[in-house]
Amino acid sequence: MGRGKGKVPLLGVHTSISGGISLSLKRAEKLGCNTMQIFCHSPRSWDTPEPDEADIRQFRNLRKSLGISPVFIHCSYLINLSSPDKGVRTRSIKLLAYELMILEQTGADYLVLHPGRAVGQPIDVAIKLASEAIKEATTRAGVKGRILLENTAGQKGDIYSTIENLSIITEKAGPDSIGGLCIDTCHAFQAGYDITTREGCDSLYSEIEEFISPLKIKLIHLNDSKRPLSSGIDRHEHIGLGYIGDNGFRVFLNHPMTRGIPLILETPKKTEKDDVRNLKKVKELLE
Ligand SMILES: [Zn+2]
Ligand SMILES: [Zn+2]
Repeated sequence: MGRGKGKVPLLGVHTSISGGISLSLKRAEKLGCNTMQIFCHSPRSWDTPEPDEADIRQFRNLRKSLGISPVFIHCSYLINLSSPDKGVRTRSIKLLAYELMILEQTGADYLVLHPGRAVGQPIDVAIKLASEAIKEATTRAGVKGRILLENTAGQKGDIYSTIENLSIITEKAGPDSIGGLCIDTCHAFQAGYDITTREGCDSLYSEIEEFISPLKIKLIHLNDSKRPLSSGIDRHEHIGLGYIGDNGFRVFLNHPMTRGIPLILETPKKTEKDDVRNLKKVKELLE
C-alpha cells in the first residue's frame, strides 16, 4: 500500500477556533489528529482584529506539547486577488497580509489560499493581478514562501481550477511568495480531474510535475463530492458517500502523489461524530 506498513499517516481535520485559537488544538487532539487546519479569524469578515497575545502564546506552547504538526491556516473566503475592483483587491491584500502575520505569530506552517475569481476579465489579466497582489501581501507581511495555492472547483469566473493557471501564478509570484500547492480532491474531481482512476491520478500528477513552474504538493484536502465529475460546483460530501466513493479514494490514497503528504478533512460537520466517522473511514481506506 501507498504509505508503507507501520507508517502513521499525517491525518487531521479543519478544526474550529471558537473560544480562542488555542482551543482548536485541544479539539484536534481529542479527535486523535497529528495535523490540522484552522481559520485564524471569521472567514466571512473583512475585520482584522488585534491578535490575542495570551491566546497565541498558549497556542504555541500547547502545540509543542501535543506535537501537532504541520498546522495550516486557511485564508478568508472574501479574498479575491484577481478582482477587477481595485477596492476589493486592496482589501484582499490587506487581509492576506494580516493572515500571514497571524501565521508567523502562531508559528503555523502554511497559509492555504484561493487566489480569486476573474470576474469577466481575460485570464492573463486576472493572473497578473493576483500574482502582483500575492507579492505585495508577502512583502508587506515579511513572511516568505509560506502560501499554498489551492485548486478550486471551476465555478463561474473561477480560473484556478486548472494546474496550468496555478502554475503560471506560481511562476509570476515567485518562490518568495508561494511555497507549494494544496490539492483538494473534491475540487479536482469537480474541475474534471478523474482522481478515481489510476490514469486520472497519473495525469493530474504529471501536470503538477510538468507545468512551467513545477509545483510541490504540501497538503491534500480530502473531501468527497456531492456532484459528478466535471460539474464545476463546489459541494463537499462525507468520505465514501459521494461521487468519488470508497473505491475512488482507495485509488487516490494509494497513488504515489499522496505519499507522506498531510491529509486534512473538510467534510460536512454537524457534530463531532461526523469527524470521527470520516477519520475512521480514511484510516480504513489507507490500510
Ligand atoms: Zn479551500
Ligand atoms: Zn479545500
